[in-house]
Amino acid sequence: DPPTTDDPFASLNAEQRAAVEHDIGAALVRPLLVVAGAGSGKTNTLAHRVARLIQSGADPQRILLLTFSRRAAGEMGKRASGVLQRLLGKGRTQSPVTLPWAGTFHAIGARLLRDYAGRIGLVDSFTIHDRGDAEDLMGLVRHEIGLSRTEKRFPLKGTCLSIYSRVVNSREPLDKVLQSTFPWCSEWEGRLKTLFGAYVDAKQEQNVLDYDDLLLFWAEMVADPELGPEIGALFDHVLVDEYQDTNRLQAAILAGMKPGGEGVMVVGDDAQSIYAFRGATVRNILDFPKQFSRPAEVITLERNYRSTQPILDASNAVIAASVERHAKTLWTDRASSLKPQLVLIPDEAEQARWVCNRILEHREAGIALTQQAVLFRAASHSAALELELMRRNIPFVKFGGLKFLEAAHIKDVLAVLRFAQNPNGRLAGFRVAQLIPGVGPATATRLLDAVGEAADPVAAVEAFVPPARSKQDWEAFCALYRRLRTPGLRWPADIELVKAWYLPHLERMHDDAQVRAADVEQLALLAGGHATRESFLAEITLDPPEATSDRAGPPLLDEDYVILSTIHSAKGQEWKSVHVLNVVDGCIPSDMSTGTQDDIEEERRLLYVAMTRAREHLHLVVPNRFFIRQQAQMGDRHVYAARTRFITPAMLKHFEEAAWLSADTPQVRKPMPETVRMLVRERARNAWK
Ligand code: ATP
Ligand code: MG
Repeated sequence: DPPTTDDPFASLNAEQRAAVEHDIGAALVRPLLVVAGAGSGKTNTLAHRVARLIQSGADPQRILLLTFSRRAAGEMGKRASGVLQRLLGKGRTQSPVTLPWAGTFHAIGARLLRDYAGRIGLVDSFTIHDRGDAEDLMGLVRHEIGLSRTEKRFPLKGTCLSIYSRVVNSREPLDKVLQSTFPWCSEWEGRLKTLFGAYVDAKQEQNVLDYDDLLLFWAEMVADPELGPEIGALFDHVLVDEYQDTNRLQAAILAGMKPGGEGVMVVGDDAQSIYAFRGATVRNILDFPKQFSRPAEVITLERNYRSTQPILDASNAVIAASVERHAKTLWTDRASSLKPQLVLIPDEAEQARWVCNRILEHREAGIALTQQAVLFRAASHSAALELELMRRNIPFVKFGGLKFLEAAHIKDVLAVLRFAQNPNGRLAGFRVAQLIPGVGPATATRLLDAVGEAADPVAAVEAFVPPARSKQDWEAFCALYRRLRTPGLRWPADIELVKAWYLPHLERMHDDAQVRAADVEQLALLAGGHATRESFLAEITLDPPEATSDRAGPPLLDEDYVILSTIHSAKGQEWKSVHVLNVVDGCIPSDMSTGTQDDIEEERRLLYVAMTRAREHLHLVVPNRFFIRQQAQMGDRHVYAARTRFITPAMLKHFEEAAWLSADTPQVRKPMPETVRMLVRERARNAWK
């Protein structure tokens, strides 16, 4: 029998189809911008485009697909495979399309830099610093050049790194960045210049790259008249999702690779730009049509396929009040009588209970847990809910929270692998050396100096004389290091060696060694999925697995679980039911970012992103009392909260308002005036007299 085909493009609307068919079969594919609102099928169109390109003869190896996360890249590959399968016919057994060049800008940058390292004066054994490492190195350099001693009020290492990063990503000079974004640091301009110079030198000496370098070196590489065309020629098509959240450097990368914009297609929504705080700019979308030597075609999509009309109405109202113009008219034919809910709740504990009740009700009504999500502004906001979910045995997975990578024991194991790959990386070396009992910072520094100057790092480690009491442990480490540096050792044998060496140290250092050992096992499992040590280290640094309470990595596939996610990490996704926690002023907009008008507008877009994730049920929860977890020195506190300013009284008609007071709710207590509290404390203190 001939295979039966059906037309997967039949369901596309005219504009989507125009984007999918854009310049198919033409000798030259002009640049294309699809700008459209949430849920209008941008990502879906991109997936169909990939399938269509492959069907018309494009080589999947020569398609570069840039997405916001590794997860998104994987999903896009799957969707494209599905479409292609239908195109080619059901009867045929078609292996899924693999798109070897699908990933985030940073991950792809790391790969290209590894390939081209020799050509641009990088040593290809470079290791990558994550944000935490980068901060630590900035702090170290700051200390070394004496700033922490002479300038007591000098910005902290995290702020210094943010400023540096902003300068690199926005391609603006330091003084402008200080003026516009960090005005309180303006007085330090000269010192910051010195610091950044030393920071860059330190990275180079140690053969490490930070996140920004992955983009920066890529951009510089493609700006080169010889390398640019060479790298551009690796790809016939360059497709980018979520273009509104790219920065200047990323736009420069596209232009460098494809000066005429040939084969470049980007999709995005200016109303969903939520990464300006990291230097992203919607200007990239606005400027796209004239960014290349050839003008770009622009397609807009107006039909929303995701949400019901009432959800769309409420979301549109929120975004329409923006001072910016997001001129878009979205419509849907998904009528519904259910308005989004706006629920007033006494406090966060009640919020957790209420949300759990709703989740279970939805499940009773046939909505699987995986079709339900709870979204929040900051990762810490789900704490009460997580407890309640556990108490009720409702399985959940949390995205965007504390990273697996941040655990000390995971950092230890990775540091050993990094130190083996790149002996000049001082942060890793420093950490590893101090795992050995009896070795402190001073000894570690001596060791790293010796290794840094030696031609053969293994010999330097072996020749090093540790404190007498460390002798035995030192020898064990030397043996490990020699084996790890032996050429031809097959990955992932390395990680087994490291594990065997590390576990006794783990037991010595931690009471909960068993729990931590399980994490190390997880890491070893992840490592096994990679072909080389470099690719494993790069991926785990760039896109670390996200831990949920006690387990890392995704749960079993057939398990049913609720998704907990920060709004930022929920980008591009959709669920039948969505709860948004803490829809109060101080949270959305966040207390931390109520500075400028621009900051506030970004928070409004964030709420818009959250609301537009919902397909059928949307619940915005407004706890009356809200617990703010502040920075350590200020202490935590409860505040009385009000509904977010983004939902004005005029907009209430789009919501079903509800209030909820459960029987077992403790009465909300009035805070006592400070004078009364002082009196009580004073009396208690003097009671013994
Ligand atoms: P976001 O801005 O949130 O990233 P998006 O524009 O990328 O949204 P998609 O995620 O691609 O939108 O699509 C939203 C939903 O609409 C998906 O469930 C998708 O399958 C569906 N959809 C898109 N186009 C069509 C269509 N032509 N017919 C039916 N369903 C569609
Ligand atoms: Mg999308």
